[in-house]
Amino acid sequence: MNKRQSSNWTLVCTGSPLSLMKQDIPEPQGTQVLLEVTHCGVCHSDLYFQDGFYDLGGGKKLSLADRGVKLPMVPGHETVGTVVAMGPDAQGVSIGDSGIAFPWAGCGACSRCLNGNEHLCFNPRTLGVFHSGGYGTHVLLQRPEHLINCDGIDPALAATYACSGVTAISAVKKLLPLSTDEAVVIFGAGGLGLAAIAIVRALGPNTRTVVVDISDERLDMARAAGASACVNAREDGLAAKIQAAAGQPISGSIDFVGSTQTAEASLAALAKGGKYIIVGLYGGGLQLQLPLLPLRAISIVGSYVGSLADLRELVALAKAGTLAPTPVERVSHDDPNSALDRLRSGRVAGRLVLSTQA
Ligand SMILES: [Zn+2]
Ligand SMILES: [Zn+2]
Repeated sequence: MNKRQSSNWTLVCTGSPLSLMKQDIPEPQGTQVLLEVTHCGVCHSDLYFQDGFYDLGGGKKLSLADRGVKLPMVPGHETVGTVVAMGPDAQGVSIGDSGIAFPWAGCGACSRCLNGNEHLCFNPRTLGVFHSGGYGTHVLLQRPEHLINCDGIDPALAATYACSGVTAISAVKKLLPLSTDEAVVIFGAGGLGLAAIAIVRALGPNTRTVVVDISDERLDMARAAGASACVNAREDGLAAKIQAAAGQPISGSIDFVGSTQTAEASLAALAKGGKYIIVGLYGGGLQLQLPLLPLRAISIVGSYVGSLADLRELVALAKAGTLAPTPVERVSHDDPNSALDRLRSGRVAGRLVLSTQA
C-alpha cells in the first residue's frame, strides 16, 4: 500500500457489495486524532446501511438520504485502532496509544453535546455513517476524548463495546435500579442480547433475566451467558410463557428485535410500572390501547446507542473483571463483504469482528 493512501471498503451505491477504494490519508487538524484501524466489529446496522433503508412497517421506509447520509461512505462504527497522527491541539493522547473510537460523535458545541449526550446531537458526526468508519484502514476522531483506553481487554471484544456494548448498557441503565424481586426480559440473544445479559449480571447480580429468541442455538448461548430462563418465541401464548419463566413481576423489557410480535409480548408481559425499552430495528407497527399506559403506568422508551459516559462505564466494568466477555469471532479486515453476507444469513454466533491480524 502506498504510505500516503488509505484502503477503504466503501459503500458506493446501496444494495451492492462494498468496493475497495484508495484515498489520501487525512492530515489531522486542531484537536483531531488519526487512528490506524486494527479491529472493526460488523454490526446489523451495517446491513441496513448497505440496503440503504430501515423498514418502518406499513410499507414505509427511512432511507439513508432521509438521514442525510451521502455516498460513497466507508461504514464501520465499532473500531479499535492505534494513534498514528494528531492535530496540534489534541491533548492527552500520544502516538502509539490504542483504544476504542467513540463513534457517536456530535458537533461538540450544542446543549446535547455539552450535557454529555453527543449521541443525540442534531448535527451528528457519526463514524461509519457521516464520516469514514472502521471498514477503512484509517479513522479520524474529532477530539482526543473520543479515544477510550481499553488496555487489558481483548481488542476484538473491545471493538464491539463501541456499538453493541454501549447500546446494551445504555438500555440496561434505563431500568436501574435492578431489584431482586422483579425480573427483566431480554428479546434477542444475538450480540446485543448476550452483552445485555452480562451487563445485567454486573449491575444487578441477583436479578432474574428471561431471554427470548426464535433460535434454540442462540438460547443455549444465552443460558451459558447466565440467563436465568429462556423462552422460544415460536411458542404460543408468548407473554404468559415469559411471565411463567420469570416467576416474578417483570419490571422491564429490553427489546433488541423491535418487531410487532416482540412489542406486543413485552407490553403484555410487563408488570404495573414496567418499562419497555425498544432498541431493535426489525420494523413493524403496533396498535395500543392507550388507557392501558396510564392505568398500568407503563413507559415505552426508545433507546439509541449510548453516550461517551456509558461507553466509559462499560469499559470500566470490563477492566474490573465484572463483565463476562461475549463471544467474538475474528475475520479478515480484507474481506468485509463475506462477513456482511454471513451476518445477513444469520449464521453468526455472537459478534464478527474484522481484524487486520486475522
Ligand atoms: Zn452537538
Ligand atoms: Zn452498530
